[in-house]
Amino acid sequence: MRMEDERKKITEYGKLLKSSGLTNGTSGNLSILDKTLGLVAISPSGMDYEEVTPIDVVITDLDGNIVDGHRKPSSELDLHISIYKTKKDAVSIVHTHSMYCTTFASLHIPLHAVHYLIANTGTDNVPVVDYKTYGTKELAVGVSEAMEKYNAVLMANHGMVCCGTSIKDAINIAQTCEWIAKLQWNCFCIGQPHILSAMQIEDVLEKFTSYGQGGTGSKGYTVG
Ligand code: 13P
Ligand code: ZN
Repeated sequence: MRMEDERKKITEYGKLLKSSGLTNGTSGNLSILDKTLGLVAISPSGMDYEEVTPIDVVITDLDGNIVDGHRKPSSELDLHISIYKTKKDAVSIVHTHSMYCTTFASLHIPLHAVHYLIANTGTDNVPVVDYKTYGTKELAVGVSEAMEKYNAVLMANHGMVCCGTSIKDAINIAQTCEWIAKLQWNCFCIGQPHILSAMQIEDVLEKFTSYGQGGTGSKGYTVG
């Protein structure tokens, strides 16, 4: 079985997406890129995450051709591939229909810096990309263009998509987005939140590089 390790991770983290409430039913999808091979391991379309086993994960090349696997790949395969082509440091992509992100995506309201932890996404906001039908090239083009500057975006009337330098990183960004969206929602219920400036988030990003028990390369802290 090709890309066995990545297939296992897609299975394992898919279950986590479901159990942590980041997505529901068969919505959402996730993938991992092997840069050396130029191959992508992606979740199968329309399968319950609890039922997916490594053999169900589909392996494709960066042109979308299936090179291994007997299942139909996620309907958002084009979206994942377009993002990998745009974001040269992306190794994993997670797409969810998590409730609070999807609420703001449906209101066409970006996620703002209502808390400094938005820095986990790498910037001070998570923008909304125009609505396009799910699974289309138009959606893939719009999102991947927006992601030149962002690691996470809201897809209007649809959900959230983000990329990371590992599957763990991508999941953490997805969890951060949902946490920020929930906080922003709570703030809006009572009043108008104070939004931190881009400079203040830059300062946080600088501090994140030395956060935790040492070593370099820290990118903030985990939310899940
Ligand atoms: P798939 O089950 O085909 O991955 O589709 C789910 C989804 O969220 C489409 O946007
Ligand atoms: Zn979706």
